[in-house]
Amino acid sequence: MLSLDEFKTSLTLPSPLIPFKPNWEGASKVSLYVKRDDAIHPVMSGNKWRKLSHALKSPLPNAVVSFGGGFSNHLHALGFACYKLGIPFTAIVRGDYSAKPSPMIRDLMQWKTRIEYVDRITYKKRNDRAFLDELKLRFPDATIIPEGGSQAQALQGIEDMIEEIEIDFDYIITPVASGATLAGIVNALNKRNSTTATDFRSLNRAIGIGVLKGESYLEELVKQFLPISNHQTNWHIDHNYHFGGYAKAPNELQMFCYDFNDSMGFDIEPVYSGKAFWAVKDMLAKGKFEDGSRIIILHTGGLQGAR
Ligand SMILES: *Cc1c(COP(=O)(O)O)cnc(C)c1O
Repeated sequence: MLSLDEFKTSLTLPSPLIPFKPNWEGASKVSLYVKRDDAIHPVMSGNKWRKLSHALKSPLPNAVVSFGGGFSNHLHALGFACYKLGIPFTAIVRGDYSAKPSPMIRDLMQWKTRIEYVDRITYKKRNDRAFLDELKLRFPDATIIPEGGSQAQALQGIEDMIEEIEIDFDYIITPVASGATLAGIVNALNKRNSTTATDFRSLNRAIGIGVLKGESYLEELVKQFLPISNHQTNWHIDHNYHFGGYAKAPNELQMFCYDFNDSMGFDIEPVYSGKAFWAVKDMLAKGKFEDGSRIIILHTGGLQGAR
């Protein structure tokens, strides 16, 4: 078991910001960088650590309960952190994997997570007041964390990520599923844009890449995390790159990831980062960025989910 300080020394923070020079059409007209949150930890997904970092602060919770699917990067990150920190953790998992545990579930079992499999109908109630009240009775000591770690507190962890960026930039690009990551970025950029000497700094804009079919739905998810003043600021979501839906990965996307991992010096996967990098490649080819733009791609991690 580790203390919180010991645990944190095992994390690579700030995460590296690296220049990225693919030989893609249009790439030489802009400056590309990758914010390597995938490099924060070899086991834990970076974006999920960011979202949990303010929930796992001193004083640490006595116990934790949370939710996710059988391949959830969130349950994986949280299960690992709770194991290392000696926090009893209960994972409520959608679907019954007891006969055929996924690699993620097998990790959780190794990390002494208590796993409760529930059917889809029960899982749907995960945010309902009555369901949560019942959970509180069953786990009176526990902190209950929503699916994906996506709660108001999570945005602060994402803001920490933006604060690590010491270069000036025009765009930051991130995959979007629950919207908390993009919302944290938007809040941080609005602070940055209003507090720095804006006469020589460019306006920072955020582009989300929807990884599931969610036109207007994803925008609403993001807005629910934002103060109204940031609802229509310098961000938007591009819905052209979901490839048919969440975790849908047609051959061309899989080949793209495969070739990428063969040649670029770090890895991506088809559920989140693969769609974001593909989107950037396509937007460059279509001339969607002004010449000279400085573009940061946030690598949110997630490689465990691709196993
Ligand atoms: C969960 C996840 C995302 C999506 O983040 P949201 O805050 O839910 O929008 C992106 N990338 C990876 C690797 C993830 O695990």
